[in-house]
Parts: sequence; C-alpha cells; structure tokens
Amino acid sequence: MHNKRSLLLYNFYQGLSDRFANMDRLLRHALPVLAEYLSADRVLFFDWKEEKSIISLRTMCQKGKCYDLQEDIFVDRYSPEVIKLLQDGYMMSPSLDYPAVYVLVQWRSPQGSFEALASGQRARSAYGVIRVERFKENKPFTQNEIESLIALCRELSSKINMTEIDHYNTSQLQRAQALNDLAKVFATSIRLSDSLIEILKSIQKSFYFDRTSLYLVDPKTNQLQEAYSADLSGEVKQIDINEALSKNFTLNCDGTTNICPAVRSSDIILTLPLTLQGKNLGWMVFDNMLSRMPIATEDIMSLKQFSAQIALAIDNARLFEKVQELSNYDELTKLALRRFFNENLAQEIYRSKRFNLTLSLIIMDIDYFKTINDTYGHLLGDEALKAVSGVISGSLRQTDLPCRYGGDEIVIMLPRTTGEEAKNIAKRLSEKVASIELNPKYTGGADIKLSISQGISVFPYDTDDQNDLIKRADEALYYVKQHGRGFWALYGDIKEGKMK
Ligand code: GH3
Ligand code: MG
Repeated sequence: MHNKRSLLLYNFYQGLSDRFANMDRLLRHALPVLAEYLSADRVLFFDWKEEKSIISLRTMCQKGKCYDLQEDIFVDRYSPEVIKLLQDGYMMSPSLDYPAVYVLVQWRSPQGSFEALASGQRARSAYGVIRVERFKENKPFTQNEIESLIALCRELSSKINMTEIDHYNTSQLQRAQALNDLAKVFATSIRLSDSLIEILKSIQKSFYFDRTSLYLVDPKTNQLQEAYSADLSGEVKQIDINEALSKNFTLNCDGTTNICPAVRSSDIILTLPLTLQGKNLGWMVFDNMLSRMPIATEDIMSLKQFSAQIALAIDNARLFEKVQELSNYDELTKLALRRFFNENLAQEIYRSKRFNLTLSLIIMDIDYFKTINDTYGHLLGDEALKAVSGVISGSLRQTDLPCRYGGDEIVIMLPRTTGEEAKNIAKRLSEKVASIELNPKYTGGADIKLSISQGISVFPYDTDDQNDLIKRADEALYYVKQHGRGFWALYGDIKEGKMK
C-alpha cells in the first residue's frame, strides 16, 4: 500500500516534468493521478471567474478518464466559506451530502500580466478550484490527506503557471510568424487588391475574429474607394461601398471618412486607422460581434504594429501603380503609348485567335496638322491634339484601347468588332472631330475645322499577324490621304475595289 502511494506520487511529479501544449492537457494528466492518490471517486476542475462571481466547470475526471464539461455555479465572493477558501487554500464542501474538499489553485495569466504591463497596474492572479469527492463509501478526508492534497495542488499551480506562459509564448510566436509572412505577401503581389485579400485571409487564420474588414480611402477624393471583409471561415468578400457607408461609417463617423477617431475600441470591436505620415489611407475593423469575446490587449498591440506595415505597403503599391501609369500613357493626350499598346494588342490577338473572335484596328491621322502648327503655333497644335484624343477616348467602349502611335497618329484597338462596325465607329469619330471647337485663346478667333483620315484593318480577314494588321490599316489610311482626306476606308474594301 505504502509502495503504491509512493509510486503514484512519483508518477505525479514525473508527469509534471513533461512539457504540456496547454492547460487542458496538463489537467488531463494530473487530475487522474491526484484522484487515485487520494482514493477519490471523482475530481473536478473549475475556472474561477471572479469578476462574474461564478466558478465554471472545465474538466471532470472519473475512473482514470477526463471529460470536458461546462457548467457554471454561482459563488458569493464574500461568503464565509469562500473567504476561508481564499485564506486557508481549502475548504470542505458546505452543501454536498458526501465528503468533498475544495482546494484553491492559483497562477498568473499571461494575458492578465500583459494587460497589466500595458496599463501600468499590478497583474491579477487567475484562480481555479479543484473539488475532490468521495461519494461511494463516504469516507471523510483526514487532515493528513488534505495537507497532501494542498501540497500537490501547489505543485500543480506552479506547473499551470509555466504551461500557460509557454502556451502564450508559442501562440504569440505563431502570430508574429503569421504577420511576418504577411509582410512578404506585399513584397511579392502584383495587384493591391490581391494583397489585401491575402492579408484578410491570414489575419483570420491567426486571430480568429468573427469578422475582419478593410476599408480603403481614395487619396484624391477622401471617399471610400473599396472595401473587403473576411468571416471566420477566412472567405473574403468585397463590400458594397454604399452599404458600408450606410451601416458602418454613418454610425461612427457621420458619413465622411476622415473624421473617425484615431483608434476606437470597444471590448468586442477594434478599429485601426491605416495612416501614413498623417495621411488616412483607410481602416481595418476587427469584430467579435457574434461571440462577444473581448479582443485581447496583446492582439491590439500586434495589430497596431501590423496596420502601420499595411499602410506603408498600400502607399507603395499605389505609387507603383502611378509610375506604371506614367510610363504607359502619354502625358499630353493621356492615350496609351506604343509599347503598352503593342503588349495589349498581342494579348487581344491571342485571345481572338483562341476564341474565334473578330478584332478591328483603326489608324487615324489629323489632316494638315503641320499647317495648323505652322499657322497658329504649337500651343494650338497641342490643344487640337488634346481635343481630338479627348473625343476619341470619350467615344469608345471600355475594352477598346486608343494609343498615341506617334506625332498626330492615333491607333485604336477594337476587340470583338467587325469591319462594318469599325466603319460606323470611324464615321462617328469623324463627325465628332469635325464638331470640335478650339479654345479662341489660341486661335485668335479664327474658325478652325479639324478633320481626320482613317484606315481600318480587320483580324483575321485581312491578316492574322499583328504587324501586318497595323501595316494594312496604315495602307488603308494612305489610300484615304491620297484620295482627298477626311474620310475612312476598310483595307478589305480597297482590295476588292469597293472604294470609289
Ligand atoms: P497629313 O494630312 O498628310 O497628315 O498632313 P500633316 O500636316 O498632318 O502631316 P503629318 O501628319 O506628317 O504631320 C504631323 C505633324 O504633327 C508634324 C509635327 O510637327 C506635328 N506634331 C507631332 N507631334 C506633335 C505634338 O505633340 N504637338 C504639336 N503641336 N504638333 C505635333
Ligand atoms: Mg497628319
């Protein structure tokens, strides 16, 4: 008998020297040994939620097996029994009709310590209560047994302390790693919106909020530009801006996006602004509206740091997009430049081949532009070029791409457009250019009429080669220039002798 008890004691201590992933694993090891050592029929572990005046059953061990259970029992913090428990570290059950002893377990919660550190207050202890029961033979606990139990629980307390710190450090490390991995997403992603989606997914994977949302503000207008949100499953959805404005921001920020308080945080909602050098780029909103779980202080700290990184990355991505835009578009006319156009045309021809689509190309040139320049000066020439380009850009579909091919030559790619349709477009453009009225500031009051000549080629009828397609349109344009200017011609029509 004596030997058996020594062996159990040895097992208990030996077991405690292991490393446990979390407190539950530790309890599942320690409580059954404790029960056996004290010849108890059942051992229960309760979390003591002091602020709510309840003890909450967490684990119950019986016959060597442990079960997770949930049951809250109200306790009066100031009842004589509870005061005795806190003073002596144990008490006999006042209400059960069989021998049962409560023993206090005490440790420092790492979260509590962190919050205390952040707020400058003393860290509060976390408490648990173990209840050891003998209900089969109703054999009372001896004072000796109680003292052994207290000693073992003291040992358990210090192991819980270590396990909690260990668990906390491991999960913090995992989160830091996750955030660090996220920073890499920004460095490698091409499109800003893709990066944002990745960010939201990963935050949800590491922090498990009920929802995380990201709102981006247009730097020019200061209005909401786009917004995404991810739920618990990590699935990201784009948020309707108008809906977001009516729901989220009118509540807190009276509809405009730039007067939100810097950090607004209730227990279950955290709003972090994405700011860079005083500029507001948007917000991230984390909420636990469903579970109503308070957001932990240490999470707020890591997310704050991370939001600074996101802001920087957003700014970089936007700068990159701007540089990209500058190098792809002509400053004067705002039309695409030749290299960018050629890349797009190559892609579109590939797609048209693959899906058997027709694509048309218009090359146009302003008539007698040199004379306009020579007569009224280059400033007016520039104005005329801008006006013609503006008319063209404003008359095309989103998928069409006009490009300043050189000097006063503009080429337009028209995907999914037949030769007949392209002729109609040419006609429309011609009419619109004819109705341009130039700024009298430059014309000196003279009535200058602009006209354009246009040549059209069609893929795949005229050719299926990109360079030849441009050449054919150019040949058609040359025909028009040779035959009086101011109109349009389809390469195919010229070839078939259909032009008069
Ligand atoms: P055509 O009807 O045969 O096209 O006669 P044209 O006078 O328009 O002759 P061409 O197309 O060869 O002349 C192009 C002129 O466009 C020459 C050049 O001075 C002028 N030009 C090219 N780029 C610019 C520009 O950015 N601004 C201005 N003002 N003029 C430009
Ligand atoms: Mg010209």
